[in-house]
Amino acid sequence: MSIGGGKRSRELFEQAKAVTPGGMHSPVRAFRAVGGAPVFMASAQGSRIRDVDGNEYVDYVGSWGPAMLGHAHPEVVEAVRVAAGQGLSFGTPHAREVELAEMIRQMVPSVEKVRFCNSGTEATMSCVRLARGFTGRTKIVKFTGCYHGHSDALLVAAGSGALTLGRPDSAGVTEGATRDTVVLPFQDSAELKKAFANLGKEIAAILVEPVPANAGLLIPDPQYLQLLREIVDQHQSLLIFDEVMTGFRLGPAGAQGLYGIRPDLSTFGKVIGGGMPVGAFGGRAEVMDFLAPDGPVYQAGTLSGNPMAMAAGIAQLRVLARGGVYEKLEVKAKVLEKIFHEEICSAGAEVTWTRLGSMFCLFFQRPGSRIQSLAEAQRSDTKAYANFFHGLLRGGVYFPPSQYETCFLSFAHDDRDFEITRQAVRAALRHKA
Ligand code: PMP
Repeated sequence: MSIGGGKRSRELFEQAKAVTPGGMHSPVRAFRAVGGAPVFMASAQGSRIRDVDGNEYVDYVGSWGPAMLGHAHPEVVEAVRVAAGQGLSFGTPHAREVELAEMIRQMVPSVEKVRFCNSGTEATMSCVRLARGFTGRTKIVKFTGCYHGHSDALLVAAGSGALTLGRPDSAGVTEGATRDTVVLPFQDSAELKKAFANLGKEIAAILVEPVPANAGLLIPDPQYLQLLREIVDQHQSLLIFDEVMTGFRLGPAGAQGLYGIRPDLSTFGKVIGGGMPVGAFGGRAEVMDFLAPDGPVYQAGTLSGNPMAMAAGIAQLRVLARGGVYEKLEVKAKVLEKIFHEEICSAGAEVTWTRLGSMFCLFFQRPGSRIQSLAEAQRSDTKAYANFFHGLLRGGVYFPPSQYETCFLSFAHDDRDFEITRQAVRAALRHKA
């Protein structure tokens, strides 16, 4: 039996392969890790996404994070419609940039100043340059399995699609480009202390996903995050939280709010764009003021602060700032968690569930496994995940096509979605490949 997308999806995939490498504009969308033909989507509304063959799915990918309120939230769509009517791009400063920057600053106390760019990759890449420019040092510490976009210096031991494809280091990235990237295992305090003891004076910054979500979802030990803060303080380095995934999702102040840790710089994307292409980075004013045009660190973008992206972000953050959203999302997440627990338990499945707020992941490992690092995540049975993924797809539920990604619950998911999910999970866990 063929797996994956239907007839029209297959036709489009064949056409796409002729004009685009692998038929994909971002590798993680390919079904390489789960097999079969990818599903081409046609539209999305609320918690549901529809493919080009007319099938509808309860969507737990949510565009990989931005669809926090569900797809095509009316307030976000209306804001973009109004903005589009006023011009698609100015290439000049404008009022919406100021408004969104002020909203971010209000919601995330560590952010005194913010700059917009067009993607998470740009945000982390620019932060690395800024940290080096500010400190006058060269080295950046990153962690195995963390993904910070695809800039050369950070495409080392990376998570997400790089990990899914089994190529955490990319061809075309020179040794010179990564010479100053120090890669450490996550949640290994001894290795961290050793690295700082040896290289402390050369380390510009630690760059970390405070809640790593690109190797599956790893729940951090709060003391470890605290140690990151302490060690950079001891060595006059900077702490950069990559909150592209967690920002405005785990709470109004993201992971830093949840764990009560103040980074020097933070990166954002996904949720702040409401589905439009956007990235941002911000933090301490004295560091941010090192950016051009005031400071010596160059950073720029033709479409940065795009009016439609700003409008979408303002509309989405406005809903989130109204209050109650995160609390209600937690209630929904608990309902979903119970369903998964019940189904995993009654199927006797070898699955460990992890969740933080509206982010969750099923690792195909013995229930209750301790999964705090990439090495532990990689003990998962990826074939069993692939089988499960296709079972869900048949049952009308869209999950990430990789064991090493995180699922997202949106504010639009409701009890009907959860019932479909329960039935699909039940069938998928019992299906033998
Ligand atoms: N940082 C993190 C933590 C991410 O999860 C991602 C993308 N998933 C990025 C950076 C890169 O963002 P983008 O894909 O928008 O370039």
